[in-house]
Amino acid sequence: MCCSAGAAAAGGATGGVPRLCVTNVQRFSLHDGGGIRSVAFTKGCPFCCPWCCNPENLSFEPEVCWHERLCLGCSVRADGRRDANGAPCDTSPERCPAAAKELLGQWRAVDELAAELLRDLPFYEESGGGVTVSGGECLAGATRQRAVLALLELCHAGGASTALETTLAVPLAVPLDRLVGACDAFLVDFKIADRARSLAVTGIDPLVRDANVARVVAAGGRVVARMPVIPGFTDGDACIRANARRARELGIRRADVLPFHQLGESKYASVGRAYGMGGVAQLSEEDVERALELVRAEGLLATLRGE
Ligand code: SF4
Ligand code: SF4
Repeated sequence: MCCSAGAAAAGGATGGVPRLCVTNVQRFSLHDGGGIRSVAFTKGCPFCCPWCCNPENLSFEPEVCWHERLCLGCSVRADGRRDANGAPCDTSPERCPAAAKELLGQWRAVDELAAELLRDLPFYEESGGGVTVSGGECLAGATRQRAVLALLELCHAGGASTALETTLAVPLAVPLDRLVGACDAFLVDFKIADRARSLAVTGIDPLVRDANVARVVAAGGRVVARMPVIPGFTDGDACIRANARRARELGIRRADVLPFHQLGESKYASVGRAYGMGGVAQLSEEDVERALELVRAEGLLATLRGE
């Protein structure tokens, strides 16, 4: 069972302006599409990768999280009950004196979001960077796709290069020519290569992704494969080879190898989710080099984290 059945509920519009639920705009990012970038993290994903490093972006609606390390214990409930995230009180984020409670996600009109993203335009132009829309799965659901497309078109019109980080393993409901015209790079996940295992573990259907990649490439879009190398899931030689081969067959020229890390672990407890990758060791330098070599052997340009 996947993390969320709420994809259809994602997105929205007020007064005709599409909106996106966004947790964060990360400025000066260097790993999400080339150059200096601003990354808008949209909230919500219908999939459930055990190694996901953005658990705060899985649910489709704003949610309150609790940071235990910041909690002063100032308004603990008399009955000792805790909420789903472990917080000992019913205090709202606005009233918490220690910022131990935090509201994750805000519905934002895309015109206002584009204006914020375009503030760093001089840095994008100087560095060859731009705007990246990430997630969650930023293309989950037709309403959200329309909002993302509107955001990309506004950023493009403002002079920024644009990229999407996506599984592309969702039905595309917006006109392909407009999507390809508004997005300069599709950064597409290639994870568990075996279809049955991918469906069972993550809910992602590689066949849906491949069909969409083929359509995007045929329409003139630029696609980069993103290959997380996750111990026990995607680090086997056969999986890496199969992903690289498939990417090449689809007309992709570059793959970014993304070694497993534990940076998302601390966020799981704060949003009341269980983390299944605790204690799993990082990849060795040899493991990373082997993955890069396997990708190169299939005829792709291989980079480490897109660098
Ligand atoms: S109000 Fe904030 S600091 Fe006080 S107990 Fe609640 S979460 Fe902790
Ligand atoms: S597709 Fe991305 S956001 Fe969704 S669960 Fe997998 S890693 Fe997390």
